[in-house]
Amino acid sequence: MQAYRFALDVTPGQERALWTHAGAARLAYNWSLARVKAVLDQRAAERSYGVDEADLTPAAGWTLPALRRAWNAAKNDVAPWWSKCSKEAYNTGLDALARALKNWADSRAGRRAGRPVGFPRFKSRRRSTPTMRFTTGAIRVESDRKHVVLPRLGRLKTHESTRKLARRLDAGTARILSATVRRDGGRWHVSFCVELDRTERVPARPHTTIGVDVGVKHLAGLSTGELVPNPRHLDTTARRMRRRARRMSRRVGPDRRTGSCPSKRWEAARRQVARAHARVANLRRDGLHKLTTRLAREYGTIVVEDLNVAGMLRNRWLARHIADAGFAELRRQLAYKAGWNAGRLVVADRWYPSSKTCSGCGAVKTKLALSERTYTCTTCGLTLDRDLNAARNLAALACEVIDARSGRESQNGRGADRKTRPRGPVAVKRQPGTAASAGQTGTVPPQDGTADHVPFRHHERLRCG
Ligand SMILES: [Zn+2]
Repeated sequence: MQAYRFALDVTPGQERALWTHAGAARLAYNWSLARVKAVLDQRAAERSYGVDEADLTPAAGWTLPALRRAWNAAKNDVAPWWSKCSKEAYNTGLDALARALKNWADSRAGRRAGRPVGFPRFKSRRRSTPTMRFTTGAIRVESDRKHVVLPRLGRLKTHESTRKLARRLDAGTARILSATVRRDGGRWHVSFCVELDRTERVPARPHTTIGVDVGVKHLAGLSTGELVPNPRHLDTTARRMRRRARRMSRRVGPDRRTGSCPSKRWEAARRQVARAHARVANLRRDGLHKLTTRLAREYGTIVVEDLNVAGMLRNRWLARHIADAGFAELRRQLAYKAGWNAGRLVVADRWYPSSKTCSGCGAVKTKLALSERTYTCTTCGLTLDRDLNAARNLAALACEVIDARSGRESQNGRGADRKTRPRGPVAVKRQPGTAASAGQTGTVPPQDGTADHVPFRHHERLRCG
């Protein structure tokens, strides 16, 4: 499964149709939510009067089929114009609500990990993202590679060529499962969810290991000696953003207390702010994709650290820079792209001291301030960029662990005779189903076990780069 996303160039008429569809999705969502809520409230009130459980107002189902049944029964009254939009638009809203209610119910019953999920809230015309998802009907990519066809909306021009997807569709190696249209950063995009037949790919250097140390100073330090600069897109556009935000704040926006509408000029200023943010996001995404594709296509084994990004974002001095660099996205992309290229992603444990260890002799420093950009070893005198040192440690760690697992290194079970070289527990990501006992006891499994990975091959010989 892979998504192909294209920006659309829509005519004013098409844009109106898109807004109508998005509004239809929102209406179906809000109407159904109100109905479910009313029934829940009614039942709660009846219970408080001491009505018998059997005599309560019957509960409203909130699975997608149940919501759809209720909507279809009521749509003639609620939205007499319903036939103007594709039925998929209403389904988008109902599906979103069904999932929201399920998440809330699961979270309340303790069946769902993560932070507690609240009861769904109504979608606002201003604040919600206009979106609709088509799963059936005429979904096509035109052979001129400049247009897509969607149910009810017809032929929409794409801003860029659809060549990448069209070629695969022509060759019969792709099948479109669904198309989602969504407004992002002031422009409509269509995203095709596609089932792909991937050809077997091999990285250019399948037996080479590379360590990747992500950071704020450099986006990535590679164990090959390359330092990938951090473009800091957010900082470079900070002036422009500030100016646009200031302009917006000076104009007359919406006011909840007086109920006044925003001015046209405020709307225009807001569009400019949104464009600036969208541009930063695009630049960031582009840079990350290029870097991760390059790494995944070249190296057989990629080693990264398991960073606690959510925790790091709580540091208010660094949060903006960390979020701007996109650490978590980098790791996510490496995970799935390594899988596509028959490579392997090794995730070093969160507590492995990759920065504090000397990549030359293995001595570990007890302290290393974040401001020390150059690593100087007091034992062997090695002087090296801090990020490069960490990247080399990560690469070496993978070699060590992989060697150990293929049975060639077995002299010290728990590192008792080599105090200076801690063998940090390492999680080698594997496909689910294969028995995983990575490295040592105390292994912290990687957070997302969903990414696909090539199973570890025991006879592979690795050369560390
Ligand atoms: Zn040293």
